[in-house]
Amino acid sequence: MEEALTTWLEVDLGAIQHNYRLLQTISRRPVMAVIKANAYGHGISGVVPALIRAGADWCGVARIEEALDVRRFGSEIRVLVLGYTNPGWVDEAIARDIRFTVFDPATAEAYAMRAQALGRVLRVHIKVDTGMGRLGVLPDEAVEFVRWVTGLRGLEVEGLYTHFARADESDPGPTLEQIRRFDEVVHALTTLGLRPRWVHASNSAAIFNFPQARYDLVRAGIALYGLHPSPETPLPTGFRPAMTLKARLISLKILPPGSGVGYGHRYVTRGRERIGVVAAGYADGMRRVLGNEVLIRGQRVPVLGTPCMDQIIIQLDGVKEAVPGDEVVIFGCQGGACISVEEVAQRWGTINYEVATSMMARLPRIYI
Ligand code: PLP
Repeated sequence: MEEALTTWLEVDLGAIQHNYRLLQTISRRPVMAVIKANAYGHGISGVVPALIRAGADWCGVARIEEALDVRRFGSEIRVLVLGYTNPGWVDEAIARDIRFTVFDPATAEAYAMRAQALGRVLRVHIKVDTGMGRLGVLPDEAVEFVRWVTGLRGLEVEGLYTHFARADESDPGPTLEQIRRFDEVVHALTTLGLRPRWVHASNSAAIFNFPQARYDLVRAGIALYGLHPSPETPLPTGFRPAMTLKARLISLKILPPGSGVGYGHRYVTRGRERIGVVAAGYADGMRRVLGNEVLIRGQRVPVLGTPCMDQIIIQLDGVKEAVPGDEVVIFGCQGGACISVEEVAQRWGTINYEVATSMMARLPRIYI
């Protein structure tokens, strides 16, 4: 099957399962696998069943559509929508046992009304904004809000959570302040007998950097895929990256000196040069920048000019043995040589999260 592919994303499910278990061991908590954005580009159809086989009992998504997608691959795993959901989805969410995040009174009330009309209960997690400046009730209003939502018929307040903005940075100050604010809310709720069953805060970076913030559950995204939270928070040893972007060499030829290569002729041959065409481009998720490199026959070679939509052109003077059909690695490892997602992200002027999630839908995901 793989022989017939020209451009594909190879996903090592064993690596994801291994990383999942490592996160359980490190955190000593249940781990919510964050699988939004098609499992950070890795593909939920492969990742969700693999996580369930590894024992995962929680997952987090950004949108209801993603939650419903998860249900196609597993009915047992608990699913929390971390973003906003329109109240029109309450029926479906209750029917499929999907949890919603709640962070404002009007939406909470609309959820409750709908659930009451059905004579059912929607499970919700209340989000507190302790310093992300994004979704969530402010700490000052949180205790009253939890009390009020708890009193709404049709809703069960199962969880309470917050999200860190700077847990990956070397200065712990901003995160310690977020933890302090969150702790205050949790403490007050505990005193009132209103502490929800599942209190959670940590993303991947916080799992490593702030053990005091693990509470009842941790939420791991990037580390699950073997990618680091940031250069300031490298992964502990043992994590394995799961994603490799591969394409085949589809054409090979010698160009005479002075030949322009690709759109805009951003590269011009200096002498007679052996060039190869590889079937991957920016419509697969690459970026249209100069200075890319790829692996072929275990060697690094430069990409000439900028990527086209579906193809790149590479320099093969140093790899005489290359033949059409050869596998080319845009990121990942080949024959002992590696180009990391992080290296590519730096070249593309972004972060590893964006590289992984921008791998396009047209790329077949091949699970190994
Ligand atoms: N929790 C929430 C609310 C998120 O939005 C995310 C991802 O952005 C995560 C957890 C996982 O973060 P990370 O991938 O850094 O582990």
